[in-house]
Amino acid sequence: MTPDDALPAGLPGAVREALLAPLVDHHCHGVRRDDLPRARFEALITEAGSPPPPGTTHFDTPLGAAIRRWCAPVLDLDPHAPPAVYLARRTELGAEEVNRRLLRDAGIAAFLVDTGLGGPELLQPAEMGRLAEAAAAEIVRLEQVEQQVAGDEPTAVGYIDRLAETLAGRAARAAGLKSIMAYRHGLGFDPARPSRGAVIAAANRRLADPKERLTDPVLLRHLLWAGVDAARERGLPIQFHCGYGDPDLDLHRADPSLMTGFLRALQPVGVPVVLLHCYPYHRQAAYLAAVFPHVYVDVGLALTYTAAGSAAVLGELLELVPFHKQLFSSDCYGVAETCHLGALYYRRGLARALASRIGEGEWSAADSARVAHMIGTGNARRLYRI
Ligand SMILES: [Zn+2]
Repeated sequence: MTPDDALPAGLPGAVREALLAPLVDHHCHGVRRDDLPRARFEALITEAGSPPPPGTTHFDTPLGAAIRRWCAPVLDLDPHAPPAVYLARRTELGAEEVNRRLLRDAGIAAFLVDTGLGGPELLQPAEMGRLAEAAAAEIVRLEQVEQQVAGDEPTAVGYIDRLAETLAGRAARAAGLKSIMAYRHGLGFDPARPSRGAVIAAANRRLADPKERLTDPVLLRHLLWAGVDAARERGLPIQFHCGYGDPDLDLHRADPSLMTGFLRALQPVGVPVVLLHCYPYHRQAAYLAAVFPHVYVDVGLALTYTAAGSAAVLGELLELVPFHKQLFSSDCYGVAETCHLGALYYRRGLARALASRIGEGEWSAADSARVAHMIGTGNARRLYRI
């Protein structure tokens, strides 16, 4: 569990209790089940997608320092253990024990796992749940479903029908859907549902080379609206990757305010939208959540990667976001450290924001505890109906 010294001293008991209560992690990925040599571990603690320059290490980052500070004690080491000592201890304990300790100590009640990334080396949702003693459910990634359908269906009409059927089938067993439109096109897309004629023409081009990643803007919009249909049928939200991510992304095209037209078009449909990560556009995201009734927001990944600086990011989100519109996620991926630290920095940042509001006489302790409960679990349970 998040250790006592991670939270400011002097917090009222009810606030401390609300902050330490088990969280719903509404956006995460599987962690690796195998033991990781140093180079592979370092590749998983950065979004860089490449090794560090010769003579340097990805441990010399906010996240790397945070691993040494907060994860080392979970593996029975002193805080600030050097990287080599940390990694040697990791190998000594073995991946399963390391995963069990870091996931369980994160204090998570339920994981909603985006299964659209990686292969058999990543733990499945049920395995994540078992190790962490938590519940688990799946979030279905639209682009992954499309890739599979494009490989299976040789005709445009068959592709359109099978896409709708497969999305409906997957949605029936999932807690939500997810779009990575930000990666494939950017969020400044035409919000209108494309015509059937345009979709058939684009599908014919697509099926000539179905192994390629989908980047055609007409088919991406068709996929998104097909996802909206499946989500509406099941009462599910759709998550969108926004902001910070790996170098596949053009960051300036991942600003969620670029999809304002789509959010407007979706409002009467009744499908909630969840803006994930958002950094450095989290203020734009907070604005969107404040003005659109169906928009929710979370800074997930940004907290893990800004680590010691994350309280400022959370503080900026809290400037404007309605408390019933914010969610917690760790966005853990690859190594369980990212789950552990996502939860820790969320609690630590929110604790600091609440302590300052209480100290300045802005909020009561009871309201602060209520807000911590809403953001940590209540909003996610209401939105995903878990
Ligand atoms: Zn993610």
